[in-house]
Amino acid sequence: MKMDKPALAGGRPIRKNFLLFHRPTIGKEEVDMVSTVLKSGWITKGVLTKEFEKKLCAYTGARYAVGLNSGTAGLHLALVSLGIGRGDEVITSAIGFAADANVIMHVGAQPVFADIEPGTCNIDPRDFEKKITKKTRAVIVVHMYGNPCDMDAINKIAKKRKIAVIEDACHALGATYEGKRIGSISDFNIFSFYATKNITTGEGGMFTTNDSRIAQKVDILSLHGISRDAYKRYSSEGYRHWDILYPGYKYNMFDIQAALGLAQLKKINSFLKRRKEITERYNRAFSDVPQLQLLNGRQGRGTRSAYHLYPVILKTEMLKINRDKMIEAIQAENIGIGIHFRAIHLHPFYRKTFRFKRGMHPQAEYVSDRVLSLPLFVDMTSSDIGDVIEAVKRIINYYKK
Ligand SMILES: *Cc1c(COP(=O)(O)O)cnc(C)c1O
Repeated sequence: MKMDKPALAGGRPIRKNFLLFHRPTIGKEEVDMVSTVLKSGWITKGVLTKEFEKKLCAYTGARYAVGLNSGTAGLHLALVSLGIGRGDEVITSAIGFAADANVIMHVGAQPVFADIEPGTCNIDPRDFEKKITKKTRAVIVVHMYGNPCDMDAINKIAKKRKIAVIEDACHALGATYEGKRIGSISDFNIFSFYATKNITTGEGGMFTTNDSRIAQKVDILSLHGISRDAYKRYSSEGYRHWDILYPGYKYNMFDIQAALGLAQLKKINSFLKRRKEITERYNRAFSDVPQLQLLNGRQGRGTRSAYHLYPVILKTEMLKINRDKMIEAIQAENIGIGIHFRAIHLHPFYRKTFRFKRGMHPQAEYVSDRVLSLPLFVDMTSSDIGDVIEAVKRIINYYKK
């Protein structure tokens, strides 16, 4: 055992080469699919994007899907399609990604943050309810780390108060809630296929819904607000004029992305299985480390995580170092880490614009100061996982109080 000094304190790093925080799993299938599109003569939005939309519907159980160039585009279009703007308020959780708050600014509405549940880091339904005013039009809930939010409680409150529910499912492809796949429950669901997500198209996203009118509106808004997409414009049906129905956006997915996505989606079951195995190995290894709080999320009765990230919360009261020093120490062992996330209301723009301050959302701030994510990706080897465990234990052992 190398349970001596951490590299940060002068010891030898546990790894010689750097273990990336994340690495996508790209095989021959992906390369072949993309290469076929490149040679086909049609590289923008076309039949493959439609096929990927259909396959994602089949996988999630949603009735409609719209391919987009990012998850952020999907969050934005959800608000635009609801007609949300100046004078309206949108609630989201204080722990979430930048995009969850930024899109509320993009439509000119007021972001209102709710605190999180300590055990999951998902929005706290009781605090969500407290933050509702006459101006509240929607709530954006984030299934943090792939663990489903308390959708029964959220939907009950939202229905009673006539508020739209938007699910940021960017971490949650493959998760289920009470027997239903995430993506098939609400009228507004957003997935991301960014390089680090459960499946990737490099950059990309998908909007899913069960409502045909919402699907149609988001589809039109994603391509300049015009009534017929480019593929149909140049097909063999003969020339047809297109009309601008809304001042739309340039947010569409295109076939090179869809080719990658189709190849990735075929592998989703094996990806999820591997993510679960790694998660369980970390859980076993860290269950006896009192300085770490693990987040297991909701489980049982048809509710399952998508195992997107492996966050730990450092009980810094029991350590001589803070979270940022812990990050330095892990990186010094040649291991990459991530942070998901620091509280949005404490970022400079939101502090300055709305005079948000510390103390407003205590649970979110507790997590914001203490959370870090360990590497979790399909191609990690058993010895990679062992290195991460050894590094974390070595550092905690050295710096514990
Ligand atoms: C990745 C992510 C997004 C944004 O996705 P992009 O495709 O990068 O725009 C939104 N929300 C959460 C929680 C994310 O992790």
